[in-house]
Amino acid sequence: MNFNLKNSVSILNAKWFGSNPETTIDTISIDSRSLQNGIHTLFFALVGHNNDGHNYISALIEKGVRNFVVTHIPEELKTKANFLVVENTLEALQQFASHHRSQFDFPIIGLTGSNGKTIVKEWLNFLLSPDYNIVRNPKSYNSQVGVPLSVIAINEKHNLGIFEAGISKVNEMEKLETIIQPTIGILTNIGSAHDEGFSNTEEKIKEKLQLFKHSEIVIYQKKEIVDKHLKEGKSKTFSWSVTDKTADIFLSKKSVLDKTVLHIQQGNQEFEIRIPFQDDASVENSISCLMILLYFKYDLETIQNRIEMLFPVEMRLEVKNGINNITIIDDSYSSDFQSLKIALDFLENQKQHHKKTIILSDIVESGLTNEELYSKVSNLIISNKITRVIAIGTTISAFENKFPNCVTFENTEDFVANFDRLTFSNETILIKGARHFQFENIVSLLEEKTHETVLEINLNAISHNLNFFKSKLKSTTKMMVMVKAFGYGSGGFEIAKLLEHHKVDYLGVAFADEGISLKSAGIKLPIMVLNPETTSFSAIIQHQLEPEIYSLKGLKAFLKIAEQRNLEHFPIHIKIDTGMHRLGFEEENIDELIATLKSNKSVSVKSILSHMATSDDLKHIDFANSQIDLFEKLSSKLMNELQIQPIRHILNTSGISNFPKAQYDMVRLGIGLYGVSNDNEEQKYLENVGTLKSVISQIKFIDSGESVGYGRRFMASKATKIATIPIGYADGISRHWGNGTGFVTINNQKATIIGSICMDMLMVDITEINCKEGDSVIIFGESPTVTYIANQLQTIPYEILTSISQRVKRVFYRE
Ligand SMILES: *Cc1c(COP(=O)(O)O)cnc(C)c1O
Repeated sequence: MNFNLKNSVSILNAKWFGSNPETTIDTISIDSRSLQNGIHTLFFALVGHNNDGHNYISALIEKGVRNFVVTHIPEELKTKANFLVVENTLEALQQFASHHRSQFDFPIIGLTGSNGKTIVKEWLNFLLSPDYNIVRNPKSYNSQVGVPLSVIAINEKHNLGIFEAGISKVNEMEKLETIIQPTIGILTNIGSAHDEGFSNTEEKIKEKLQLFKHSEIVIYQKKEIVDKHLKEGKSKTFSWSVTDKTADIFLSKKSVLDKTVLHIQQGNQEFEIRIPFQDDASVENSISCLMILLYFKYDLETIQNRIEMLFPVEMRLEVKNGINNITIIDDSYSSDFQSLKIALDFLENQKQHHKKTIILSDIVESGLTNEELYSKVSNLIISNKITRVIAIGTTISAFENKFPNCVTFENTEDFVANFDRLTFSNETILIKGARHFQFENIVSLLEEKTHETVLEINLNAISHNLNFFKSKLKSTTKMMVMVKAFGYGSGGFEIAKLLEHHKVDYLGVAFADEGISLKSAGIKLPIMVLNPETTSFSAIIQHQLEPEIYSLKGLKAFLKIAEQRNLEHFPIHIKIDTGMHRLGFEEENIDELIATLKSNKSVSVKSILSHMATSDDLKHIDFANSQIDLFEKLSSKLMNELQIQPIRHILNTSGISNFPKAQYDMVRLGIGLYGVSNDNEEQKYLENVGTLKSVISQIKFIDSGESVGYGRRFMASKATKIATIPIGYADGISRHWGNGTGFVTINNQKATIIGSICMDMLMVDITEINCKEGDSVIIFGESPTVTYIANQLQTIPYEILTSISQRVKRVFYRE
């Protein structure tokens, strides 16, 4: 889709500053890091909390971008590019999308609800793609930014749109409605998700229904509370119900083997449809799809044939370690152009290796000719500096000359058969294929073989939590994030990489070697070392880490090395002890500290910090305030006498929440990033980051009087069904969690841990649970939570998280 810059000026009602209004635009971007930015990009400088797109304009100009939508033009750049000045850049992006949408008048399905939006959208795409050229949101791009970016992808070749809209507070839907302008509305399941932003469920429903304000028809599960608010609108409705016979479609369901049979009554017609799922959520989502097929007047046979082929949807992008030190980015479930763009941006953000390979299947993209499509794909791949392309499928293979270092295979079996002839080592590999190519077979060949226990880390949740804490701070307050102890057990490099992506200001580690491994892996953010041992000073200097200096002895030792090497202004951080009594200069050392620093040019005080002992417990509020007061006094003295303006910081996570007045110039976020708060109210706003998962190795039946495990510490008092799970204390599960104290979750049910926890295994009671060998087991995550386990074991979540041993594989994913 091409746009003309001049038209954009009038669409956005912008003030124009520039020399070249005839430029054509083929890419709309908001991400300064994307390698897809180029001369034909129009970059919207969005302004968020702590992150302002205007700051990257000069770097983007250097990379060749020439067209910007801004609220103001950075002074020195006035003559260097074309600028469209608007009042609010996000609103401008939305306005642009809304105008673009208005150019088309084919049907657009708009979806909203609390659950199931993305699945229903993906399924409808699958069900309707044989007959339509469909445009839809990639992944779950359904936010105030995601929706406009999705809608801008509409082009002349499309004849059906499917867009989902997600909101988290009131007044957001109205904006999304003007962008999507759906002609057909679907309300999916209304659960309790995201209730925080609304005062009650009714308000939430009312807000969601705003999406259908101008729709011709609304499809929904009949409920009084929805009816009430729909009546206010003018749309027709097409409803379904399993309880209310006045609905347009009345259904009853029964389970047959692993399927669900729906008996359907529509007026005086009755028929049956088989759905390949049994769980409530999938059945409900299938019904939403069925309703659209009925509304589109498909015949029964087609409906049955297509619905029978529905499949679980995996929207995640997963990062995994593979053989020969490769990193795998697994996106093996979809292969349309929009999601390829997203995956390539993600790949660029994961700079583990210099070498980048993509394994790509034929691309399912309606509308374009193959020549056009693969030319676009080729441009993308070349601009993302992919070193090697492995093309799988006959269509893409025909265009092999468009790709760098391309190897082709007819199909996945062909690739697997030739696997030994290919080499994979020290590179990042993006695996992206349409579902029917079954690229999971490729992933399993490349994956590192480890045992079945994994700690899954949700990268979206980390971003969410980071933004939550950012939103509590003044926009000028800097953020240091603590990634010590392997990112609180969650993974060092991957999390640091994500934080770099979010442009936090600093990372904090405990020891020099943690910092060195991050720097060696390519992390560019400044890193403070809390506990620099004298023996590591050389390594600290060599790797440009920044030591925390907490004693005169340490300072003198560091100065000696710094002077030997003729360093100038090497950044150091001065730690003051204000009452924690762990590390730091005390009040009586301050004069000598000042005297030592005064005449010295080899180091420069980058920041002054202290640490609070009781920021999490308001019982000790007076003590906490006395620490802050002493910090104010001593840090001011240092600043005055040394004539310096360093960054000052004293707050950790609970300090951010409880003592926001003391945020100074920077805060040090730790546990909160990983989704844990010591405040129950605040906990509701955080998302769970880590889920420790294993599987059932074996199921056994034991009789009353038989025992389980070492020391026979569990004695069955009745016939009992038990499961053995391959995770034990060597993986970091406390033995105190065994013998009836703790539980794991299997198929959403609690299974009590019985007997003593072994080194590599534990046993649970599954008498009442419907499960089989190989089923997934949750050790912690949504339930039980890390906080719950910590409370039960009379410890703190920090200990539970950091105890998970390194032999447990970490898998990172993004939704
Ligand atoms: C670990 C640590 C933090 C972070 O603490 P949280 O309670 O996890 O937020 C901050 N500052 C220092 C000095 C630390 O050691």
